[in-house]
Amino acid sequence: MSYTVTLIPGDGIGPEVSEATRRVVEATGVAIEWEIHEAGEAAIAKYGAPLPDHILDSIRRNKVGIKGPITTPVGKGFRSVNVGIRKALDLYANLRPAKVVPGVASRYENVDLVIVRENTECLYVGIEHDVIANEAAEAIRIITRRATERIVRFAFEYARTNGRKLVTAVHKANILKLTDGLFLRTAQEVAQQYPEIAFNDRIVDNLCMQLVQRPQEYDVLVLPNLFGDIVSDLCSGLVGGLGVTPGANMGDGIAVFEPVHGSAPKYTGLNKVNPTAMIRSGALMLRYLGETQAAQRIEDAVTRVIAEGKSVTYDLKARRDDPTAVGTREMADAIIAAL
Ligand code: NAD
Repeated sequence: MSYTVTLIPGDGIGPEVSEATRRVVEATGVAIEWEIHEAGEAAIAKYGAPLPDHILDSIRRNKVGIKGPITTPVGKGFRSVNVGIRKALDLYANLRPAKVVPGVASRYENVDLVIVRENTECLYVGIEHDVIANEAAEAIRIITRRATERIVRFAFEYARTNGRKLVTAVHKANILKLTDGLFLRTAQEVAQQYPEIAFNDRIVDNLCMQLVQRPQEYDVLVLPNLFGDIVSDLCSGLVGGLGVTPGANMGDGIAVFEPVHGSAPKYTGLNKVNPTAMIRSGALMLRYLGETQAAQRIEDAVTRVIAEGKSVTYDLKARRDDPTAVGTREMADAIIAAL
């Protein structure tokens, strides 16, 4: 069986972690033909748009894509390509597993969380305008029953398929009584259709405090878009940092895999950052394609390399200036050797 996959290397550290991932995925022996496309700043220079239509067409055709991070200018410039892809392809569920990998220095043991973030609405889609230029601006936060129902259903279906025991809906319904009130009520209704899976809810600020103190008490978290963005970085921090946490944007019959981290521009081209998050996103992709064995081999190889602690990047060393840290390429080589 051979697959065609759209690969967007991204920018900043994206091309380096993408190349590492491509090599590791190919080393499993699964035959993949890659359709490689530039997006973001580089695409503007070439095609006049950060997310030209041919990229979306390629993902629509192949039904599966994998991407490195793409820089979004802060406070100005073009809108996020990442948000654009999720919206255009209706990739409504952002799945971000955060699990302690043996050998990664983290403050906690036995953390095994799955973040299910709504991906198409809420403040994160960035609908805003000036009310009075430079004096007042307004952002619009839309929460709908339809989007909430399908994301909460996704969380419960994930829990059911993967033997998880608890789904927690995260919100701020005490203050945002209409938008998050609707999110919470809808979640409670969907939960009733899954009596075998426990359900509770938490106000987002309280949840953050509890995650820092007792992350083991949580299992699957389902959140509106912006809270999901923030809480998933917090959860990455619980299990060893952004260098190790993978992600997937899922729609109906279509998916784009990407690490949780961004383009970390200050490390561009230095062969320094950890390729694990994107390599594990590659393993999620293989699992999605039904290549369970290849996915498991990658996950085991990553675990072995990290547990051994020798051929790992700076962020996985006890001291960040440890001179024995290896580069992105060399860590990928070690993972390939361990396959
Ligand atoms: P970031 O995730 O790029 O980096 C934050 C810090 O995390 C880095 O300075 C580094 O210390 C660490 N880090 C990140 N990835 C790492 C890795 N693979 N190995 C080791 N350490 C790693 O976040 P940021 O600095 O807030 O964002 C930079 C740019 O990335 C922004 O333009 C932002 O919009 C974009 N971004 C893109 C995506 C995406 O493409 N999905 C996601 C998040 C941020």
